[in-house]
Amino acid sequence: MYLRVMQILDGVLVSAHIKEQIKHEVNEWQTNGGKKPHLAAILVGNNPASEAYVGSKVKHCEELGFDSTLLRFEKDITESFLISEVERLNNDDTIDGILVQLPLPGHISGDSVINAISPGKDVDGFHPISLGKMLLGQPTFLPATPYGIMLMLEYYKIDTAGMHCVIIGRSNIVGTPMTILMSRASNPGNATVTMCHSKTKNLKEITLTADIIIAAIGRPKYVTADMVKPGAIIIDVGINRIDDPTKKSGSRLVGDVDFDNVAPLCSYITPVPKGVGLMTICGLMKNTLLAAKQAKELIG
Ligand code: NDP
Repeated sequence: MYLRVMQILDGVLVSAHIKEQIKHEVNEWQTNGGKKPHLAAILVGNNPASEAYVGSKVKHCEELGFDSTLLRFEKDITESFLISEVERLNNDDTIDGILVQLPLPGHISGDSVINAISPGKDVDGFHPISLGKMLLGQPTFLPATPYGIMLMLEYYKIDTAGMHCVIIGRSNIVGTPMTILMSRASNPGNATVTMCHSKTKNLKEITLTADIIIAAIGRPKYVTADMVKPGAIIIDVGINRIDDPTKKSGSRLVGDVDFDNVAPLCSYITPVPKGVGLMTICGLMKNTLLAAKQAKELIG
């Protein structure tokens, strides 16, 4: 019988710890003549969730002693205009990192815009060069959410070597890079990884064999208690808004995991909110600091 007490993987605690480290590093960097890291964020349109994410990233820049520039554009701008703005930021030596908040309006190709970002400023880690280097295990900007999850596992000293890690979701920004990081020869990592998606047959049979489940699906409370092996580690990436008449706003955020029923079963679990979302910001901020340091090396 499984007796270990369940532990919350606390995004507030871990992100506070990492942010202190970043602040310290920025101070040291500036004391030695480095300039403040500078993040430029591009927001197209006024999707409320995107507004909230970008707002939080800009706020974190202030908190950590970074400069930030927010460029807002109407949703009907053209793809070529947006790419010209990215190129302008690429050529601006005062900018270290560029992020384009996704999703973009349907008439703009996210791939084309991401491809236009200079790889040296790709702090979201979505550029093909960043992803290719990650695949090969070369130093690069890791995609912010998978990077944040690795930082979380590292903080709690969770030894994932030899574990069966089931990742649900195969997006380019979460699921797919997560499979690479969890399977590579590193700690955390060294896991045996299975990737699942909407065409996977017998998902429950697979998840029941998982020592770790990483859910990045975008479906509220999709992973239920009957899908989880007792003692499993649960990383919930999902951010879904559901109706809740008991809240003043009429809604609340939940993850892809049915937290209330799954939590008592497992060894570790991330909550939503206050879990992976905060770690994503840490990944982004660490990448931006790295970009500033690398730019100094390149530019002198
Ligand atoms: P995508 O919509 O790009 O990908 C979702 C994936 O889930 C797809 O691969 C899809 O499969 C798979 N899927 C959908 N339905 C099922 C199903 N019934 N069974 C198995 N797999 C299924 O989403 P993202 O990766 O961008 O985001 C996932 C979630 O994570 C969202 O809630 C998003 O808001 C959240 N998110 C949170 C972040 C954070 O910082 N916490 C950062 C980024 C995202 P298929 O490929 O076959 O369609």
